[in-house]
Amino acid sequence: MLTFEKMYSMGHEEVVFFQDKSCGLKAIIAIHDTTLGPALGGTRMWNYASEEEALIDVLRLSRGMTYKASVSGLNLGGGKAVIIGDPKKDKSEALFRAFGRLVESLNGRYITAEDVNIGVDDIDHIFTETNYVTGVALDHGGSGNPAPYTALGVFRGIEASCQKVFGTRSLKGRSVAIQGVGSVGFELAKLLHDADASVVFTDISEKGIERMKQELPLAKFVSGQEIFSANVDIYSPCALGASINDETISMLKCKIVAGAANNQLKEDRHGQMLKERGILYAPDYLINAGGLMNVSIEFEGWTDMKSKRMIDTIFETTLKVFKISDEQNIPVNKAADVLAENRLASIRQIKSNYLGRSVTHRMPGSKKRFN
Ligand code: NAD
Repeated sequence: MLTFEKMYSMGHEEVVFFQDKSCGLKAIIAIHDTTLGPALGGTRMWNYASEEEALIDVLRLSRGMTYKASVSGLNLGGGKAVIIGDPKKDKSEALFRAFGRLVESLNGRYITAEDVNIGVDDIDHIFTETNYVTGVALDHGGSGNPAPYTALGVFRGIEASCQKVFGTRSLKGRSVAIQGVGSVGFELAKLLHDADASVVFTDISEKGIERMKQELPLAKFVSGQEIFSANVDIYSPCALGASINDETISMLKCKIVAGAANNQLKEDRHGQMLKERGILYAPDYLINAGGLMNVSIEFEGWTDMKSKRMIDTIFETTLKVFKISDEQNIPVNKAADVLAENRLASIRQIKSNYLGRSVTHRMPGSKKRFN
């Protein structure tokens, strides 16, 4: 049983539970931290085994979004939503419109987007009820599919890793093993191919494998576990989390791990293990932030060029994280946390300074500008 104390132990500002029996909606929205701006994070629909499991998921994911936005230099906070239900059976227009009204009721403190099992049609229904939603279809003035932008960010992270390890950002002649050639992995494979790198890949979907064979015939397929021991410069996890663990680290022959998947390290200590083996790890939540950067631009009027320009900054930020890791002799995953936490702390500080100074000049109730 999760108590209030446990629920708020990760530093969340607000957790909202909502149910609408008329359409079967059961949702939890977690707002972790709005120091840098409104909390942005996708909505995940999942058939959770229990409500507690859903709550733990949304708390963990929303905290991750705070770190991701902070390290990426975005003026956004961290939040996330989960809808408890079977995406194959329980989706309806009414359910997503009810969810949209819930998001609207938070007055912009939380902005939603796509996540696992949420598609463009669902986002459109949410958009009917609230403007606090991103990842809206291109023809509705949004930024459309984020995957190519996420892939571009991962590519910039790989370039930064090559700069650090090989002294040049060029991918020409490098070899990359991609686990999972879905929406992001496939786009990444195309970018690598265009940069004259060779690609080895694996996937469990016949459709994905076939698409690679058709569109990138030079890429070599390997099955399952073989991807870890592939003789390559870079291993790029683009499928599931936790692919870097006790078992796989000893199999790796690469010099760099850099991919799109969330939570690539099964446990934090695996960052240290990579360091000890002399394998450079590009932190997942930094280099896969291209999709988040892309949707963040929707508020100021999205263009492809603005989005790509922002995503290009991942190259420099990744180098900055490597520098912190070297200077403080800490694993790269910890160094990314340091960069994110330092930014949060500094902005928190100026906010409290400002509030403290101006409070005597302001009428009660006029603090809204800081939300
Ligand atoms: P996706 O579902 O389109 O692709 C995942 C691919 O991995 C699929 O082709 C699937 O068949 C394959 N796969 C699953 N299990 C596998 C296994 N054991 N071995 C090999 N292949 C396997 O998902 P996506 O949108 O491409 O996202 C990939 C990863 O990147 C996910 O972890 C996601 O959370 C993360 N991510 C995605 C985005 C985005 O913009 N889509 C943004 C940030 C992070």
